[in-house]
Amino acid sequence: LVRLRARLSRSQSVFGKGLLSVLSRDHLDEDAWEEIEDSLISADVGVEATQALVERLRERVRVLGTRTVAEVRQQLAEELTAALEPGMDRSLRTAPHDGRPAVVLVVGVNGAGKTTTCGKVARVLIADGRTVLLGAADTFRAAAAEQLATWGERVGAETVRGPEGGDPASVAFDAVKRGIDTGIDTVLIDTAGRLQNKVGLMDELGKVKRVVEKHGPVDETLLILDATTGQNGLEQARVFTDVVDVTGVVLTKLDGTAKGGIVIAVQNKLGIPVKLVGLGEGPDDLAPFEPAAFVEALLG
Ligand code: GDP
Repeated sequence: LVRLRARLSRSQSVFGKGLLSVLSRDHLDEDAWEEIEDSLISADVGVEATQALVERLRERVRVLGTRTVAEVRQQLAEELTAALEPGMDRSLRTAPHDGRPAVVLVVGVNGAGKTTTCGKVARVLIADGRTVLLGAADTFRAAAAEQLATWGERVGAETVRGPEGGDPASVAFDAVKRGIDTGIDTVLIDTAGRLQNKVGLMDELGKVKRVVEKHGPVDETLLILDATTGQNGLEQARVFTDVVDVTGVVLTKLDGTAKGGIVIAVQNKLGIPVKLVGLGEGPDDLAPFEPAAFVEALLG
């Protein structure tokens, strides 16, 4: 939490500050409520989610006759936490079962942080005593497979690659097969994300999924979203949720200029749990997503 707070404090405790100035007034008039709304929207919470949140907060403040800054802050914290659906299952299904490795598909647009996240997740699993194999199913960019293999070396995981320009589904198939044959615990498959060609991308991802499923079901499909792309990133996310059953979101680059409210918008718009957050480019810059701790960090 301390680390998360430090990372977020640079840019994201925007509501913290905005809110305090509003709350130091004698009473919450219309202008004050508008300011609260504005600060939530500018923190990337999204218009719909903000309106729903502020409406509930207003109702609580009215019913409970809230007076103090601390109380309103507490109530906002509770509403934000509720908006993040704290009851959702955020565990990662990475344990081997039925005598075969768990298979994790990693999807998202280019540059979102797929390869980096594969490396970081592998690192966490290996530190936990698991064996991991990486599948470089982004065969369109030679650099992508290279970068994944570098992560593999760094964290101690074998990388299965195909020829450049080869069939991504066949690399994914081979990676899972190799994982089964060598008794690996978890196979992480890095995919391509060329959004310029939506139809091609959908066909390709659908095929990767189907081919991998010849070995058994995919256990986890992680959608990697770059938090700095804000609401636009959410629109792009739909393309992926339409093609593959996304089971969890990883929100990357929350260490930079991203506004943390995007997590609430993701939860609200996609209804898929945010499972992990990326907090930097290094191997250890990955954290499980914890709604209550996150809201605390966000409010500063
Ligand atoms: P991919 O195209 O989706 O595989 O994206 P990459 O994994 O290659 O990442 C794109 C860039 O974003 C790289 O320069 C990464 O180092 C950087 N990156 C990925 N995750 C994070 C993160 O959580 N924080 C920051 N600051 N940079 C990140």
